[in-house]
Amino acid sequence: MFKFLLKMHVGNPSEPIVEVGQLVARGECIANPVKLGAKIHSSVTGKVIKIDKEAIFIQEDKNNSNEYKKIKKCETIAEYAYEAGIVGAGGAGFPTHIKLQTKIPNGYIIANCVECEPSLEHNVSFLEKDSTLVVKGIKYAMEATGATKGYIGIKKKNEKAIIEIKKTIDNLGYNKSIEVKEVKNIYPMGEERALIHAIFDKWIEAKDLPSTLNCVVMNGETLANLTRAVEDRKPVIDKDFTVVGDFANKDISNVYFNLPIGSSIKELTKEYKLNYELGELVIGGPYTGIAGNLDETYLTKISGGAIFTIPFPRYEGPVGLLVCACGANEERLRDIAMKMSSEVKAVTFCKNVAENKKCNTPGVCPGQAQSVMYLKSQGAKRIIMSNCNDCSNTVMCCAPKLGVGVYHATDHIFRTINYPLSRRMSIED
Ligand code: SF4
Repeated sequence: MFKFLLKMHVGNPSEPIVEVGQLVARGECIANPVKLGAKIHSSVTGKVIKIDKEAIFIQEDKNNSNEYKKIKKCETIAEYAYEAGIVGAGGAGFPTHIKLQTKIPNGYIIANCVECEPSLEHNVSFLEKDSTLVVKGIKYAMEATGATKGYIGIKKKNEKAIIEIKKTIDNLGYNKSIEVKEVKNIYPMGEERALIHAIFDKWIEAKDLPSTLNCVVMNGETLANLTRAVEDRKPVIDKDFTVVGDFANKDISNVYFNLPIGSSIKELTKEYKLNYELGELVIGGPYTGIAGNLDETYLTKISGGAIFTIPFPRYEGPVGLLVCACGANEERLRDIAMKMSSEVKAVTFCKNVAENKKCNTPGVCPGQAQSVMYLKSQGAKRIIMSNCNDCSNTVMCCAPKLGVGVYHATDHIFRTINYPLSRRMSIED
């Protein structure tokens, strides 16, 4: 059984256009957007068995294939994006046809291939395999917006993917118009304003959009979907995904390409054998993911990963929450505190968090001593923080000296996969 959430994008839930009992083909549109939103297409051929306020449920036929019903021929690239139901695949879920209506003559399309969240590997693995769809997608986005230059932002450490991308740019003859920009291996280099800063050495104010600097930023998988829509008239029905954990019979990061949207994550991972008792299932990446329920999690257009963690440590003492705009939010930190049996004494935000809850300069610490002292003054003996790498460094410069312990929201995940904890880290790599 496949479950298609009616809201897998920014905006309103889409409106079903099918009925219970109806037969649908893979690729067929099953829901239309209501104002801001996107079309939803079935990723399987089968029968609609249930529709509720939240989702459309489809029982697949036994003989499903990769064939799909094509979207109609369109006049413009933005129209292809609309018909295909493309939304930001990196997690943002913003409808792509609206982004492509931005006019930025002589501006820049920035392909966000940073894959910011450690352990999620499907974006970079895809590029290592073949970057043609992403590079062509940049050209289509340039054509739609009037941009004349494209950049591909990717972490310096992803050497194999960088070689492949440069080869593709060469093969397609795009050397003059598309350039690779290597960025540091820190969190949150994939935040769009951090990426723009890495390219142009200028900050966009938290209240402004990238178009202020004549830029449109699009995730690599989104750009691949744009190429598929324009060249193959393929709607968004499949998604790349990573399953992460310490397994007896699998790797730590397990990449899947083209999984049908609506797939059950429980079904996908039923053969996985954990080396420990499950602590938490995190849906998304270590920094921004949230706790999920295996029985109720189905693949969407913006799903990134499923992480099976070790159990949380217990800490029954008083804690303070230090919230970052680019990592776990207050609700998630409270959830972690509750799971550790901690008592929350106070909450404060990194002083870089602007009124609209965005960070002023993502990844560049404004100083954390005040926040740490405030939480201590409220009785916190330990801080649970969600800060970026630079700010975690700063917290570690003062909290231990003040006798305050530190737990980062990613700790149980990084301990699971033996990845360096967000404490003191080099930010030059
Ligand atoms: S500067 Fe503050 S708000 Fe911005 S990314 Fe770092 S911790 Fe988060």
